[in-house]
Amino acid sequence: MLRLPFFLARGFVASETLSGAIPIISGLHDKGLLTTVDLLGEHVTRRDLALLGRDEYIRLLQKLASEAQLERNISIKLSMIGQVIDEDFCYENLCALLDEARALNAFVRLDMEGSSILDSSLRLFESVLPEYRAHVGIVLQAYLKRTEEDVKRMCRLGARVRLCKGAYREPSTIAWQRMPKIRTQFIRCMHILLRDGNYPAIATHDDTLIESTKAYALEKSIDASRFEFQMLYGLRPKTQVRIVRDGYNMRVYVPYGRMWLPYYARRLRERPENVTFLLRNFLRS
Ligand SMILES: Cc1cc2nc3c(=O)[nH]c(=O)nc-3n(C[C@H](O)[C@H](O)[C@H](O)COP(=O)(O)OP(=O)(O)OC[C@H]3O[C@@H](n4cnc5c(N)ncnc54)[C@H](O)[C@@H]3O)c2cc1C
Repeated sequence: MLRLPFFLARGFVASETLSGAIPIISGLHDKGLLTTVDLLGEHVTRRDLALLGRDEYIRLLQKLASEAQLERNISIKLSMIGQVIDEDFCYENLCALLDEARALNAFVRLDMEGSSILDSSLRLFESVLPEYRAHVGIVLQAYLKRTEEDVKRMCRLGARVRLCKGAYREPSTIAWQRMPKIRTQFIRCMHILLRDGNYPAIATHDDTLIESTKAYALEKSIDASRFEFQMLYGLRPKTQVRIVRDGYNMRVYVPYGRMWLPYYARRLRERPENVTFLLRNFLRS
């Protein structure tokens, strides 16, 4: 695996280690921000590494629980605990993690990855939902043409959903490609989630969508305590704090770990400005 020096990623990734990430998470709490912590890693194809991934996630939950001031909320990738090896194996690993989450009164969000494992992700989520309802949530991607139906289904199931645009390259047969259409779909899904969902998370840095969410909540008299905004660590930090000061919940997604390259590449691809950010870091070091 290609290894690049960490300073390249430090604007988007909290640290390569958990001990390095803890003071950063603590600092976010001090500003009134909520957090969800992600140990980076994905697409594990060996059983021993998938078990290691599961154990690392469990250790992360235990560490967060051992620090009184930290929130017990993590985001995970199913492909890190065996999804692409064998779905039943992944199910067992997920249950072991959720047993720990329940014991620690913690919450585990299942990030959504590429469409090749979407059906499997929804199957796994729905199979654990009845047993671990208060401790698990899913992510849906507005750029997929099927998502409005998935959002309605998740509302019927009472599931907690994070709505985002979607970060993977998907073909036009299944995914909207143009930003105006993706925004329109995002807004349609956001309306359904705010109206009928269970504490939805609106995950975006896009002002149009943030303002649209606030306006819809106001119009329908939906209290700000019934949903939250989410943003990624390092992106729009001042806006994150401003949204909290305006009376909304804001959760920051804090990634850490040595396997930061795929996450980092997705951030660079999303916005050309992120490349400028990278160059500034490079020149500063
Ligand atoms: C908390 C969180 C969790 C996520 N989880 C997943 C997941 O599980 N699966 C998945 O596929 N994707 C996930 N994503 C990524 C998501 O799908 C998008 O790829 C990513 O958020 C970029 O879309 P955007 O709406 O934030 O803004 P973009 O489409 O990147 O930008 C739209 C507009 O927003 C404004 N903007 C954006 N960033 C900035 C900035 N840094 N500074 C100033 N203005 C800015 C600009 O006006 C820009 O034109 C997640 C995102 C977040 C925030």
